Amino acid sequence: MANLSQAQIIEVGTRDGIQAEKQLVETDQKLRMIELVLAAGVRRVEVTSFVSPKHVPQMADAHTVLAGMERPPRVEVEALVPNMRGMERALECQLDRIVLFVAASEEFNLKNLRAGSERMVAVAKEAAREALSAGLKIRGGIVTAFGCPYQGRVPMEAVECLANEYADMGCDEVGLADTVGMTNPATVRRMVTHMGKKFPRIHFTLHFHNTRGIGLANVLAGFEAGVDTFDASIGGMGGCPFAPRATGNIATEDTVNMFHEMGTDTGIDLPKLLDAVAYAESLFNRQLPGQLLHAGLPEWDISAA
Ligand code: ZN
Repeated sequence: MANLSQAQIIEVGTRDGIQAEKQLVETDQKLRMIELVLAAGVRRVEVTSFVSPKHVPQMADAHTVLAGMERPPRVEVEALVPNMRGMERALECQLDRIVLFVAASEEFNLKNLRAGSERMVAVAKEAAREALSAGLKIRGGIVTAFGCPYQGRVPMEAVECLANEYADMGCDEVGLADTVGMTNPATVRRMVTHMGKKFPRIHFTLHFHNTRGIGLANVLAGFEAGVDTFDASIGGMGGCPFAPRATGNIATEDTVNMFHEMGTDTGIDLPKLLDAVAYAESLFNRQLPGQLLHAGLPEWDISAA
């Protein structure tokens, strides 16, 4: 039975959240976002990505951000690594964990990641070897685990097959990503239950986009089926430069609020987290999708006042 008293957030705002934003976010603005998120008690941050700066200019300052960020104790600093060039750059930085990724959909691998899954797995294997020998932990990301914008449904066997590869590579953690926001709670429950049984030693994490408004329902389904760690982005920023029609990640503050209202601890101070959200929103000329900043925290003692 899952432990329903505790949940963990991996903040991905400065990575997935802003990588598709046209407006370039300055390095010091990223550092301020990270500082505020850490001050709120978030303990895992996927800070940046070592994708080619030519393809994703927003991530060109990966080194500088990692070198400039504060590191409170017990914080796990993570970064996305797409290939061996990215791995080389990652090894020049101070990191606790790298995140590798391969799509469960062959169409997605070919169209957006520019290599078939066999090649992607081979590259991930090589990067994993390097990472492990440098003492880094690895999360193996399975992109389009719940559906692909080109292929539609993705068979569970394809996801299982990749999880197997990651287990062989020495990953202690596998992230299942609904990259463009296509899934639903029933599918999440089925997937998580199945994968948990097949890979009892792997810690699974979930990554949802709220493209069709089902994000938090999916979080709850995954949580009740046994996953306790979720990627989320402050303000619900997000999209994906390689995934057409993907909109924002689930909003960190809305996710944390849901957990707290359920009596589930996240270790995060919600009013402080809203400072981070307000700051992020001030950087863009629009209201971000996250709802809590604008709805306000629930006030249960109104009648007593
Ligand atoms: Zn994403």
